[in-house]
Amino acid sequence: MERLVEIEKYNPEEESVETSLRPNIWSEYIGQEQIKKNLGVFIEASKKRVEALDHVLFFGPPGLGKTTLALIIANEMGANIKVTAAPMIEKSGDLAALLTNLEEGDILFIDEIHRLSPAVEEILYSSMEDFRIDIIIGSGPAAQTVKIDLPRFTLIGATTRAGMLSNPLRDRFGMSFRMQFYTSEELAKIVLQASLKLGKEILHEASMEIAKRSRGTPRIALRLLRRVRDFADVADERNIEFVRTKYALNELGINSHGFDEMDIRLLNLLASANGRAMGLSTIAASLSEDEGTVEDVLEPYLIANGYLERTAKGRKATRMTYDVLNISFPEEQGGLFS
Ligand code: ADP
Repeated sequence: MERLVEIEKYNPEEESVETSLRPNIWSEYIGQEQIKKNLGVFIEASKKRVEALDHVLFFGPPGLGKTTLALIIANEMGANIKVTAAPMIEKSGDLAALLTNLEEGDILFIDEIHRLSPAVEEILYSSMEDFRIDIIIGSGPAAQTVKIDLPRFTLIGATTRAGMLSNPLRDRFGMSFRMQFYTSEELAKIVLQASLKLGKEILHEASMEIAKRSRGTPRIALRLLRRVRDFADVADERNIEFVRTKYALNELGINSHGFDEMDIRLLNLLASANGRAMGLSTIAASLSEDEGTVEDVLEPYLIANGYLERTAKGRKATRMTYDVLNISFPEEQGGLFS
């Protein structure tokens, strides 16, 4: 079965629907209030000085609106934006080509920026700091270094793994922002806004129901909305009603905590350790997932909501997890708790 609450990797079809639902003005970008407030000041200031905005880094789990925010910044600055992702920049020459094609004030957005190769990253340093790149042409004794001046541009980087960013790269961003998970109320607003763009109105209770099951993530909320809309369309319903929504979500097997099958497997695994901590590599191997996915995609939501705890010895399920899974808390089982 399709994992609806999974934050999947690149999918062109999904990408095109997402693009049509993407807000492109501040007022449509719901939540992340602190980030919006700070960014608003910096944008205003650089517009006043008629300067490019300082380089910006966004970090946080996938689907929380990093790309969307970059596009809105470009819109606010009245700047052109070039969107790319680190895996698409394989060689230093690829980056040089991107950079030399920029114009004054343009924005370059690099997703998954922690995945740049060291050679490419090296070029980025001088371009971010001095707006200049040194390119080596030829090899051996005949090799020559050519310096190319770049226009003042803004780099916006996004990463799910702030910890994997090298210090020199991190230090070159003038601003960095951690994206927060969304509250149910915020997600419900996002769902309502998107439903109107899709030509249907969703009732408040129904949008709240979707919100509560979306792991605090707009991308998941919007995906659920589209599936629920299918049910409403088939039933010839004009609006998206609560009863239909609840029925659809149950049919789709979406858990009321927003957990997906993988979350449940992870939580069951931790609970089976009977209060002892479990290492990341053991967890990843048991779930047949790579450690990065466990750390960046699965854990943040569970930690933010108090279902999982990271300790020096590893990961532990919390009392809430045992309660949700209907398993008695280890303390009560007679002392195995360490
Ligand atoms: P990320 O780059 O962090 O993976 P995206 O920017 O691609 O996430 O967002 C995923 C989807 O969620 C987009 O289609 C966008 O429409 C929607 N979205 C994200 N954040 C918001 C928000 N704050 N308000 C409204 N829609 C949002």
